Amino acid sequence: MIGVRFTPARSQGGLGARLAVGALVRLGHNPRVSADSPLLAARQILSRTFGHAAFRGLQEGVIGEILAGRSAIAVLPTGGGKSLCYQIPSLMLEGLGLVVSPLIALMADQVAGMRQMGVAAARLDSTASPEERRETWSRIEAGTLDLLYISPEGLMQPAMLERLSRLKLALVAIDEAHCVSQWGHDFRPEYRNLGRLTEVFPDVPRLAVTATADARTREDIRNELRLQGAREFVDSFARPELILSAERKTGRGRKRVIELVKARPNRSGVVYSGSRDGAEEMAAELVEAGAPALAYHAGLDKQVRADRLTKFLDAEEAVMVATIAFGMGVDKPDVRYVIHADPPSSIEAYWQEIGRAGRDGEPAEGITLYSSADLSWALRRIDTRELSDEVRQVQVRKVRQLYAMLEGMGCRAAAVRRYFGETGVEPCGQCDLCVAPPAAIDASLAAQKALSAVHRLGGRTGRGRVVDHLLGKTKDPSSAETQMSTFGVGTEFSPAGWRDLLDQLLFEGLLREDPNDGRPLVGLGDVDAVRAVYRGERKVQVRRAPEAHDAGTRSGRPRKERGGVPLAVDEGDMALFNALRAWRRDEAARQAVPPYVIFHDRTLAELAQARPANRDALARIGGVGQGKLDRYAGALLALVAQG
Ligand code: ADP
Ligand code: ZN
Repeated sequence: MIGVRFTPARSQGGLGARLAVGALVRLGHNPRVSADSPLLAARQILSRTFGHAAFRGLQEGVIGEILAGRSAIAVLPTGGGKSLCYQIPSLMLEGLGLVVSPLIALMADQVAGMRQMGVAAARLDSTASPEERRETWSRIEAGTLDLLYISPEGLMQPAMLERLSRLKLALVAIDEAHCVSQWGHDFRPEYRNLGRLTEVFPDVPRLAVTATADARTREDIRNELRLQGAREFVDSFARPELILSAERKTGRGRKRVIELVKARPNRSGVVYSGSRDGAEEMAAELVEAGAPALAYHAGLDKQVRADRLTKFLDAEEAVMVATIAFGMGVDKPDVRYVIHADPPSSIEAYWQEIGRAGRDGEPAEGITLYSSADLSWALRRIDTRELSDEVRQVQVRKVRQLYAMLEGMGCRAAAVRRYFGETGVEPCGQCDLCVAPPAAIDASLAAQKALSAVHRLGGRTGRGRVVDHLLGKTKDPSSAETQMSTFGVGTEFSPAGWRDLLDQLLFEGLLREDPNDGRPLVGLGDVDAVRAVYRGERKVQVRRAPEAHDAGTRSGRPRKERGGVPLAVDEGDMALFNALRAWRRDEAARQAVPPYVIFHDRTLAELAQARPANRDALARIGGVGQGKLDRYAGALLALVAQG
């Protein structure tokens, strides 16, 4: 755990008064005992309703804060169990728990999941019909609803606020709170209005939760949401189940993506593409190669998008090829890999996007393909946008930090965690750089040659011409060119070796590329840095000797595919596991919910291994709470008895 900050918060009334006695009675506790030890009651709900044995990480601290009537900011990694932090207090405190969430897909999922557990939850969003709204409102006003999910726009409508302000609220949770920050990558202007909730609900504890927040974003959350006194809980960003790797791509990297996807059959994955057209084309090529791929982007018709999302969520094997329009709040827990066919925009975006893999805590992969052309494109995009100088600088730095991690020599997971401000971070031992540490080779001399060549060519040529020049192989060179001192000085490397080195110089900002309508021209980059290389004050290191290059190992690492990560099920339990999955598929189809809303793979794997013989034993399996026990004990025990 890092950086738990203690700041005084004003107390908002005695706990005993706020605890909803009715809720506790309904959950079968003695209200007097529970009121004295709210965390004990919280633990009982965790186990009885949610079926989990113990709190994870900082959950308990956050819940304790809310139960004491104080607001809080919680930064927990994706999959860290943020939702429990507001769900449990909503069940315990008197009144309705309000959850502000940016995405309808997320709300639908959470509401379905809550209902499976026997919790009274509903959502009010733009897709609800007038009858649904009326019915939800009657439940709200009768006080029979525990949790209401709502969009920020929906909540901030004056009529809505007016109606809600007459009710008793347990808490207001603001999910994906980083959307309030313009420094982040998910800025949503409507989130800014949420600061007003302080005035509308002055005595209701508010909880801002997010998985993404460097110090600056956290400051923004605090200021914009007016959570000045709130205690901040920041958990470690470690995601030990994620196995990271990155490789430089050739061309657009399509072939490589197909290879990676084909090597991972029978599992679900997400492929991120930088553009809508790219997503469509990539999906089409994957389908042609026999993979169950679907494209998803903001340019598609709303209904088509919704259908594809449902199809993806419901599938045990599917590949979503998407722009970043897809993702936030989509928590399909069994996504086994995320491939970036085009790199993300920052380390925050990287962590959030690959964070969509392995949410069930089982091993999953994050694979990033990138090139110096992607870097140039990202920088150019920032250049052409209308931004204040300050924001522009922040964004350029974020892009540079991302590429420094991708091109880095040390553990990727550790690099990300340090970026988020963690200290004392150990190497993960499983990313590509930990498994096969690259050798650092000093290429400073070659870099000097390349930089002088670019300087002498005056920024008027593309990369190919620079390489030809260094090798002395330029077709029909002018006599001026052949007389340059850099002409033919680079015979020590192959053409591919030079291309790699030029890439490296582009990544380091020593060179830059000017788009020139699709025929990019190479020029010198940061003047001071270039000068430092000339003077020998700055070393240029490459991951291996450029001459060792061959087309089969473009990334410098072996291309053999491991074929993804294994499911944590023993050979002998596989038959029962598969039978349980088949049952879950039917049950999900019957109820029209995604399979994971019924049970996660992990629960089924544990069932297949533990083979509970009765209800009590079944109740001890992780993820089996009272609601699911009541619904499914019969079917599950029968399957286990047969298996
Ligand atoms: P996120 O923080 O990304 O929103 P969720 O709240 O969706 O994460 O939780 C991720 C998964 O972890 C869910 O499947 C949830 O049931 C599970 N989970 C949350 N808390 C616990 C816990 N204390 N013990 C076991 N599993 C938990
Ligand atoms: Zn590592």
